[in-house]
Amino acid sequence: MQTSDPLLIEQHIRKDFPSLELQVHGRPLVYLDNAASTFKPLPVLDAERSFYIEKYANVHRGVHHLSQEATRCYEEARAKVAAFLGAPESDNIVFTKGCTEAINLVAQSWGRRLEPGDEVLVTAMEHHANLVPWQMICAQQGAILRIVPIDEKGQTDLEALESMLNPRSKMLAFCSISNVLGSHNPVQTMIRMAKAVGCTVLVDAAQAVAHGPIRVTELDVDFLCFSAHKMYGPTGIGILYGRRELLHSMPPWQGGGDMIREVDYQVTSYAEPPLRFEAGTPPIAQAIGLGAAVDYLQSWGWEIIMDREKALYQHLQVVLDSIPDLRKIGEATDRSSAQSFLLGQAHPYDVGLLLDSMGIAVRTGHHCAQPLMKRWNLPGTVRASVCFYNTFNELDYLGQSLLKTQRMLGHG
Ligand code: PMP
Repeated sequence: MQTSDPLLIEQHIRKDFPSLELQVHGRPLVYLDNAASTFKPLPVLDAERSFYIEKYANVHRGVHHLSQEATRCYEEARAKVAAFLGAPESDNIVFTKGCTEAINLVAQSWGRRLEPGDEVLVTAMEHHANLVPWQMICAQQGAILRIVPIDEKGQTDLEALESMLNPRSKMLAFCSISNVLGSHNPVQTMIRMAKAVGCTVLVDAAQAVAHGPIRVTELDVDFLCFSAHKMYGPTGIGILYGRRELLHSMPPWQGGGDMIREVDYQVTSYAEPPLRFEAGTPPIAQAIGLGAAVDYLQSWGWEIIMDREKALYQHLQVVLDSIPDLRKIGEATDRSSAQSFLLGQAHPYDVGLLLDSMGIAVRTGHHCAQPLMKRWNLPGTVRASVCFYNTFNELDYLGQSLLKTQRMLGHG
């Protein structure tokens, strides 16, 4: 993009996303549910469509032209993701169904080495995807799941973490950005703290991947995962980054085609990673769509994306602060993209429904973080989440609609 005019840039970005033109209940859609999933730009849709029409076949098995072509495109997508994350090689990237499956893979494969009394640590702000798989493997192995507390603002208590880490700590798994609170965890610091006691680290980057650069080698992280659908890519695909020696030391967690070296009726030897962890026909078109999403993000560049999102998030704060009787949930000093709130005594669900009738998509409920809601004694929250295709006008309209919602609910 040659221009530096913010309005021209905005117009150009929005043209890439046809879904932004939708009308809902007869009103122009204002989509503020980006933390749940983002819309897809035309280059991603085109990449999947042209793959299905021009290059479609199954991967890794055929000698025929199309199968070779499909394999090349699939592996090219892996290489794009590796470069996007600054991973040493493509083989560090395992394609999964999404972030949830990536965490389950680590829990069910790496996690088999846990012994009774070993400890797994997660923070109190984790999505169920980074909690339940650890509960399951801890129960299987007799390991102990420990919850690192967060403060009232929604920030991980680093002193508590320091005091909890000990030689029995085998895994620290945490989100880089909370989907409920928008809080940023100090990823580098937390990794260093864990490493000091020899603890392996998994970073759930589901909420971070669309909003800024991630460099796995510089972070010195062991595992990192995300879903493509939150970064303008397709559903049904995500990745697990794993340090080479760790992936090589892990047993497969699902068996079938593609993950084997040699099969006998009684015994099987397994393929090297990443194929060891990709049993069955993979989501080929989705992987190619993910590769296109990486290209798309890079075509705009982090500077434009991050500048816009920062300004939009600040404006969201101004808008929300101007609404009487609105209580923000999550006030971490370092936070971005998502903001949870409550409107007076109104139930979040009622607020969500009324906003929907005005064309605004926000998320309401527990956001797959029930323990966090219980801890703070909340019925759930309303969550607005922005990304770089949102506009300042949309946020102003959210403000007007929240005032209207208050009047309709008799709270204003
Ligand atoms: N972790 C976080 C922080 C998330 O926000 C989400 C999705 N809301 C997930 C994990 C799970 O992602 P998915 O459902 O795409 O597997």
